[in-house]
Amino acid sequence: MYEFRCGSPVCRTRFTAPTEDELMTEVARHVVVKHRVAKPTKSLVQFVRDNTIREIGVKP
Ligand SMILES: [Zn+2]
Repeated sequence: MYEFRCGSPVCRTRFTAPTEDELMTEVARHVVVKHRVAKPTKSLVQFVRDNTIREIGVKP
């Protein structure tokens, strides 16, 4: 599972998805709808991926 927590101080959105790809799809939709970023740039996507996403387990 992957978890996203929005890094914006005015936004406490949090959600999870089974794969990173699915999570990034949700994240892209989130920034477009909530933060009005029409076309997230590559560096923004990279920033989001590095700073707001983490893998959560499913511990053995
Ligand atoms: Zn947000």
